[in-house]
Amino acid sequence: MAADPGARCIASDNGVAAVATAVAAMSAGAAPVDAAVAGVNLNELDPEDNSVGYGGLPNEDGVVELDAAVMDGPTHRAGAVASIRNIKTPSRVALQVMRRSDHVLLVGEGALRFARAHGFVEESLLTEKSRKLWLYWKETLSATDDWFPPTDDEIARDPVLKRRPTGTIHLSARNAAGDFGCTTTTSGLAFKIPGRVGDSPLIGDGLYLDNAVGSAGGTGRGEASILACGAFAVVERMRAGRSPLDACLDILSRVVDQSRKNGNADGNGRPTFNLSLYALAKDGSYGSASLLAGCKFAVADATGTRLETGGHLFEATAR
Ligand code: ASP
Repeated sequence: MAADPGARCIASDNGVAAVATAVAAMSAGAAPVDAAVAGVNLNELDPEDNSVGYGGLPNEDGVVELDAAVMDGPTHRAGAVASIRNIKTPSRVALQVMRRSDHVLLVGEGALRFARAHGFVEESLLTEKSRKLWLYWKETLSATDDWFPPTDDEIARDPVLKRRPTGTIHLSARNAAGDFGCTTTTSGLAFKIPGRVGDSPLIGDGLYLDNAVGSAGGTGRGEASILACGAFAVVERMRAGRSPLDACLDILSRVVDQSRKNGNADGNGRPTFNLSLYALAKDGSYGSASLLAGCKFAVADATGTRLETGGHLFEATAR
C-alpha cells in the first residue's frame, strides 16, 4: 500500500491560498472542518473575489445573498445557511449552525438572526465593483426600458463592466489521520432571482463527505448539481471503488444525460453550462473534472501548493 500522503486539501481554482492555509491549519492541530473554513475565509473576506462573501455579486435587486455549508467527517454533522445577507463569512455561521444548533440548514432572515445571536457583525457586502457590475447588467437587460447603460467610452475605461463572473469556492480537507472536513461558500448565480438557493449550501449537492470514503464538492451551474445530487453521487462512486477522477467523470456523464432531458443541452447534445466536481478519497488520492476542458483545481499537501488541470468531457472551444 502506498505511503499515507499526510494532510491534503483540494479546492476550486480560486482556492490556492485557501488550500495552503487549510493544510497549515491542520498541521497546527486544527480539525479538518475548521481548517477548511479558515481557508475559504480568505476568499469570503476578499473584496476582489466577486463570487463569494464580501464583494460577491448581488441578486437582481442589487442585494448580496450568500450560501454556505460545512460538513465534519468524524461526527458526520453538517451546518448550512442560505440566502443570508450582511454577513461576510457565511461559512463561519454554517459552522455555528453545525455546532450550536440541532438543525442543519437555516435560511434568510432566520439565518441572519442566528448569526446576530452568535455575535456576527452585520456589514454591507456590496462593493463599488460589484455594484457597478450589477448596474451594468440591469441597464443592458432591455433596449425598451428606462435604464440607459454607460457610453462605449465609459465601458472602454472600465472593462470590468462587461464581465458576468460566476464562481464559488469548495474546499475538501483530509488530515494526516485520514479524517475529513469540507465547506462550500458562494454568492451564487450573479443577478439571481431573490431567494434563489444553489447547490452550495445543500448537503449532498455542493458538498458531501463520508469519513470512511472521502469528500467531494462542486462549483458551476448549481441547478445541474442539485438535480444530480452531485457531491453525494461522487462519494458513492468512490465507495463503489472508482478513483476520484473517474467518480467525477461518471457523475458529469450523468449530468449530460440529464441536461438533454431537461432542455439544458444545445443541438449537439452539449450542456449549455459548465459544472466542475472535486473529490478527495480516504487514501489521499484526489481528482477533479469539469464538463468543459481547461478547468484547474487547487491542491496543497506536504509537497507544496499547486494548480492542476482536471479531466473533462467536452472541448471548451468546440461550441
Ligand atoms: N454553484 C454556484 C451556485 O449555483 C455558482 C457557481 O459555482 O458559479 O450557486
